[in-house]
Amino acid sequence: MAAVSKILVVGGGVGGLTAATALRQQGIAVDLVEINPDHSVYGVGIIQPNNTLRALDRIGLADQCVALGGAFPGWRIFDAHGGHIMDAPNHNDASPRHPPVNGITRPLLQRVLLDAARASGADIRTGVGVARMADDGDGVDVGFTDGRAGRYDFVIGSDGLYSEIRTRLFGSSPAPQFSGQAVWRYNFPRPAEVEWGHVYYGARTKVGLVPMSPELMYMFLVTHEPGNPRMPREQLAALMRDRLDGYTGLVAGLRDMVTDADAVVYKPMEHLLLPAPWHKGRAIVIGDGAHATTPHLAQGAAMAIEDAVLLGELLGSDRPLPDLLDEFMARRFDRAKFVIDSSTQIADWEMEQWAGIENPAARPGQLLGEATHALMADY
Ligand SMILES: Cc1cc2nc3c(=O)[nH]c(=O)nc-3n(C[C@H](O)[C@H](O)[C@H](O)COP(=O)(O)OP(=O)(O)OC[C@H]3O[C@@H](n4cnc5c(N)ncnc54)[C@H](O)[C@@H]3O)c2cc1C
Repeated sequence: MAAVSKILVVGGGVGGLTAATALRQQGIAVDLVEINPDHSVYGVGIIQPNNTLRALDRIGLADQCVALGGAFPGWRIFDAHGGHIMDAPNHNDASPRHPPVNGITRPLLQRVLLDAARASGADIRTGVGVARMADDGDGVDVGFTDGRAGRYDFVIGSDGLYSEIRTRLFGSSPAPQFSGQAVWRYNFPRPAEVEWGHVYYGARTKVGLVPMSPELMYMFLVTHEPGNPRMPREQLAALMRDRLDGYTGLVAGLRDMVTDADAVVYKPMEHLLLPAPWHKGRAIVIGDGAHATTPHLAQGAAMAIEDAVLLGELLGSDRPLPDLLDEFMARRFDRAKFVIDSSTQIADWEMEQWAGIENPAARPGQLLGEATHALMADY
């Protein structure tokens, strides 16, 4: 008999949909509310290192992601002119029957997660948020913005970086912090020469090409944007092209194809770490709401998925709730912190290098490889 029998999941993104499926697989009743009127997500891709696939495999979804995506062995590193520097193969020790890395479009990942959550029997409502929440120690009474109400044994806030559930439980601090960097993304047909993921190191920026299927890839361009300026939407294509100046070869050819401002996905990179514990009473915050990272290790969604799968397994056991939550924190906090610390360190070193500051201790490529490998260990 599970420690809880009915759970509310707030937020239908990566972590929330994964949690819904993981909990239903334990026989727990799940209501999920998503504030957006539909489940659409923006159209570029997401990188799934091998530990993401291990976690998804625990709920039976890794094979589908690989079948719908573009698997690749690791990263091929170039200078700004396409000069090959080295290959950095990734490991697949976490899930040896899956590839080291899989790229997939965000809409396809969302479809896999949503179909699984629906098929599992979770009750999913869109265009709905939480209007009030009262925890009396034995359960949580929740009123929703659509006028409905429910009583739950436990509430999971998986409502992203600006989590309202985090604010309800813990107040407005800590707030997300701007890292100094931003990322520009754009989809392209995948040329035959992009067999691995590609990374190009420019003088003041970094470019990546990420396979998302045999035919499709996306470019990410990482830039330093002091002061986090607002980028006018209609100028995004021109601004991205400006920042791609200085690259030659394949990247320069792609630069000329960046013409549709609406297809540019621009994001300032932010991070946040909620101090432990991430739970209070009969509620918890997981995913970006508790630990948002910059994407240098491509581990944000991975951490949300690992949280959700582990929480589902623990809540499905018959142990007392406080024990389960202690174990959850013991297995998740240091790992999430390691991802954020490593990622922000890489960001800081990159910005120093781009500013011409000599730092003999800086070793971003080495840290990236070591941290990615370390995350293959189980948790
Ligand atoms: C530029 C960039 C690149 C990235 N690349 C990668 C990558 O390659 N690999 C990787 O693993 N990770 C990557 N990430 C990180 C990844 O996108 C996030 O870590 C992941 O989406 C977090 O999942 P989540 O479920 O916690 O939050 P989200 O996916 O943001 O989902 C939150 C959901 O909650 C909903 N919501 C918000 N407020 C409410 C509310 N009040 N009530 C109800 N619903 C609400 C939202 O609409 C949303 O659907 C990247 C992030 C960025 C910014």
